[in-house]
Amino acid sequence: VPDQAVGGFACQQHSDWAEIWETRPPVDLEAPALPEGWTIAVIGRSVQDRTIEAIVRPVETPRRRVVVVGGIHGNEVATPPAVRGFVTATIDADVEVWLVPDANPDGTAAGLRCNANGVDLNRNFPWGWRPDTGGPSPLSEPETQALTSLIEGLRPDVVVWVHQPLDYVSAVGASPDALEIAWATGSGLPVRPDVTQHGGGESWTAFVADIPAVLVEIGGWDASEAIGEAQRAGFEAMLGVLESTDVAG
Ligand SMILES: [Zn+2]
Repeated sequence: VPDQAVGGFACQQHSDWAEIWETRPPVDLEAPALPEGWTIAVIGRSVQDRTIEAIVRPVETPRRRVVVVGGIHGNEVATPPAVRGFVTATIDADVEVWLVPDANPDGTAAGLRCNANGVDLNRNFPWGWRPDTGGPSPLSEPETQALTSLIEGLRPDVVVWVHQPLDYVSAVGASPDALEIAWATGSGLPVRPDVTQHGGGESWTAFVADIPAVLVEIGGWDASEAIGEAQRAGFEAMLGVLESTDVAG
C-alpha cells in the first residue's frame, strides 16, 4: 500500500469522499526568508516525534493577537506554504502573529490527511466529538493538544484555520462577519455563512474556547505561489479590519 510505504501508517477513513483521502506529497514551493522580528517556537511534537513549529512575530504589549493554522490535513498541500507566506504580509507593529503552517507534520511528510495514529485531526477537537470519526477520545492526539494549549494560552483575537479544497471562507458561530467579508474581498474566496464541523478545530475555537474563528477553504487541490498570494491578500484584508476597529473586542 503506497500510503503505508511513506509514513508507515494509513488513515482510518470515515467518509466515502475519495478525494479527501488521496495521497498528495508536499509541494516544492520555496518558503520566504524569515523577516527581521520573526522567530520560530516549538509548540509541540507529533506522534512520530516531529516538531510542530510556530513562526512568531512577538509584540511586547500587543493590541491584537492572531493565530493562523495550516496543514491540519497533511494532504492539503497548498496550506503550509500559504501560511508560511504570511510572514511577508503587511502587519501593524502592535499586532502579534503566530503562524502554525504545518500542524500535522507526520501527515504532511506522508502526504496523508490523517496523523500517524490514523486519526483525522479535524474531527478530534472537543466540540460535537463523535467516536465514529474523531479518534479514541477528544484531544487524544498530541497535535490537537498542542493547538488547543497554544490557543488557550494566547487567547488571541482571532484564529484562522486554513484547509482545502472547498472554496469558501466562513466566520464560525458568533465570530464577526466583518472578518470573513474582509478575507473574501482580499482573496477572492466566496463567503459561506454558518459552517460548523463536529470535532473541528474552528468549531472548538468559536464554541468552546469562545474566541472568534475563521475557516478558510482554498478552492481545489492545486498549490502555487499565486494561491498563496491570494490568501495573503485575504489575511492582510482581515488584519485591516482587526487593526482598525473593535470588531473582535
Ligand atoms: Zn482539511
